[in-house]
Amino acid sequence: MQLKADAFFAQHLDNIDPLKSFRTEFLVPQRAGKDQVYFLGNSLGLQPRRTQSYLQKVLEQWQHWGVEGFFMGSEPWMEMHDRLAGPLAQVVGALPHEVVVMNSLTVNLHLLLVSFYQPGGKRNKILCEAKAFPSDQYLMETHVRQRGFKPEEVIIEVKPRSGEVAIRTEDILAAIDLHRDELALVFWGGVNYYTGQLFDIKAITAAAHAAGAKAGFDLAHAAGNVPLHLHGWNADFAAWCSYKYLNSGPGAVGGCFIHERYHRDPSLQRFAGWWGYQKETRFQMQQGFIPIDSAEGWQLSTPSPLLYAAHLAALELFEQAGMDAILQKGKSLSDYLLYLLEVNGVLSSGKLQVLTPVEAKGCQVSLLIPRIGKQVFQKISDAGIFADWREPDVIRVAPVPLYNSYSEVWQFCQVLQEALG
Ligand SMILES: *Cc1c(COP(=O)(O)O)cnc(C)c1O
Repeated sequence: MQLKADAFFAQHLDNIDPLKSFRTEFLVPQRAGKDQVYFLGNSLGLQPRRTQSYLQKVLEQWQHWGVEGFFMGSEPWMEMHDRLAGPLAQVVGALPHEVVVMNSLTVNLHLLLVSFYQPGGKRNKILCEAKAFPSDQYLMETHVRQRGFKPEEVIIEVKPRSGEVAIRTEDILAAIDLHRDELALVFWGGVNYYTGQLFDIKAITAAAHAAGAKAGFDLAHAAGNVPLHLHGWNADFAAWCSYKYLNSGPGAVGGCFIHERYHRDPSLQRFAGWWGYQKETRFQMQQGFIPIDSAEGWQLSTPSPLLYAAHLAALELFEQAGMDAILQKGKSLSDYLLYLLEVNGVLSSGKLQVLTPVEAKGCQVSLLIPRIGKQVFQKISDAGIFADWREPDVIRVAPVPLYNSYSEVWQFCQVLQEALG
């Protein structure tokens, strides 16, 4: 389609958007009786309208049944996990039994490293991206220390080339090959939180396996944002949070993928708890841990039906909209944003630099604005647009497919252009 840069055309794109009706499924922050433009779905996704009643249902069930709510009532809490695994498997490209909903992201990554970081002899290193999200850096640093290693001796970071922002896939693959005899694990992000760069999970996994290492991924900024085929790509494990693109609420319950080839593998270490014990005999409280033979075998603790309910409310919308339509629109929104910046001359003005690789992104776009960035950000906020500021000079925006529109992207670009002067 031939794009145009005027407001009517943005409205036209909204009119023909197959997902346009989904916006009414969300509660959009208001100011002076007007919808704000919320481009922070990469940080905390908006609240689905139905979430409140789903939470209410859990409270009523608790009121009515007490602990029996796990087994009784219209939606026994014991059955809720199964209802989450199906739609979530669609989001990450997994088989439903390869997905487990539990804990939150950083906790889950520690648990997965217990199983998938198995250093032996000189094969004890972890290869990862430089400038990963801080929690990932801290978790690797402390995890390897707990195993008796010095982080500076076993963690290898791959950086962008000097003068570049994105890390080239060829450089990642070359680094894996270079360290092929000493890698225990390649641990990578799906989408970098700062630059918005989408990484080639399939190629990284294949290279890690060719080197004899495991491949695991942090999909915090990828789940619900970019195409994922974890099973088909043969990844060993992955974890994500569900409060960002997955709209499941602040502190929402996290999710993990564990490839089915490991479900019955007794050679893997794991930290266990009773909720990972075989369901049929869990309540016999026997000695000796026998895991559920699916990803659920990695669970430790009693889950929160409240968090499950909020997650379900959000995942139903993903299921209704369909991943293909969601992913297509997400990419199209960010493409449209870059198109507007280009035709309006903002890109060639030298006033900003797009950090996000055009060919490898989801819906997030990161804009570096030297010197006047903070001032520009203030003007954007004053205009009723929620964007994200990263010191010292970066504005991140994420127009998301389920509740943002092309008109909002157009409006943002107008405000940005004016603010740049
Ligand atoms: C958001 C994010 C986290 C946050 O982890 P929590 O344990 O949910 O607080 C971790 N890693 C990455 C890459 C993130 O983007």
